[in-house]
Amino acid sequence: MLTANGLAGFTPRHLLSISDMNRLDIEMLLDLGEAYLDLSVQKDTQNHALAGKTLINLFFENSTRTEKSFELAGRRLGADVINMAIAQSSVAKGETLLDTAATLNAMNPDLLVIRHGASGAPALLSQKVSCAVINAGDGMHEHPTQALLDALCLRQAFAKTGQDIGGMRVAICGDILHSRVARSNIQLLNILGAEVRLIGPPTLLPADADRWGVDVFHDMKKGLEGCDVVMMLRLQLERMGGAFIPSKREYFHFYGLDRTKLAYAKPGALVMHPGPMNRGVEISSDVADDPEISLITKQVESGVAMRMAILHALSLKERGGRS
Ligand code: ASP
Repeated sequence: MLTANGLAGFTPRHLLSISDMNRLDIEMLLDLGEAYLDLSVQKDTQNHALAGKTLINLFFENSTRTEKSFELAGRRLGADVINMAIAQSSVAKGETLLDTAATLNAMNPDLLVIRHGASGAPALLSQKVSCAVINAGDGMHEHPTQALLDALCLRQAFAKTGQDIGGMRVAICGDILHSRVARSNIQLLNILGAEVRLIGPPTLLPADADRWGVDVFHDMKKGLEGCDVVMMLRLQLERMGGAFIPSKREYFHFYGLDRTKLAYAKPGALVMHPGPMNRGVEISSDVADDPEISLITKQVESGVAMRMAILHALSLKERGGRS
């Protein structure tokens, strides 16, 4: 069983935002994630780091990868896992979330994973419960565990070349405006010292993006030049009230990643996508399914290991009182 030796000095009590962590915290989590990745390859079933602990998954929005990987991560560490599938219900925000928090708190969980359509919902919940709260995506705000798993995946993918994330040029492309994945990844990559570029149409880039420590491009050819990594984002149509793009076909023509556009990046550049993918809209199947260049399935694999590391690290924190 992995011990917590490498976590001395890990500071966060909750995982709500990448901004709650310093570089050391992030590197400790990545090291532990790497160790869990090795263990999962060996199919070690003897890990009981979370034995006797209760993990509640509270998903107010739909999820495939994130919910299942938290469930698997909790079970692999021996926790009791409860999934509360409330995405389809008509619960309102605000009061209902607080009522839910009180109910859950009475069950004495140790770890609470929450996805919610409202930015800030996990932070609010963390003030009302006495266990560790993990943000599994809140509105357009953040998705910190996705950024951590992406970093773990990059570390592994570039291990052979010895290239460090700190020296990489990473392009994040597409619907930045509605993307919590982009917001968390930008912060994390900046903390680790990578050069970050955002590429997308002006309608899908926040007006203040140039103040996020990134370079902004509207043209794939210019933006992808010299990039080691191309991170594609889904067009988040469910968050678009109006017409942000003329048509999906036109969007693919200008911003969809195919082999022609990928050739603008550095030779050997690797491609990422957090999923779910819209094939033929932001990425061609040809690129997405090529294991030589696509890290997409590796991202899912890294997701379980990274979430094991996060659950393990936060489970070591003292439970606090409710505020
Ligand atoms: N799965 C990611 C999220 O929950 C990305 C996406 O939905 O496009 O934000």
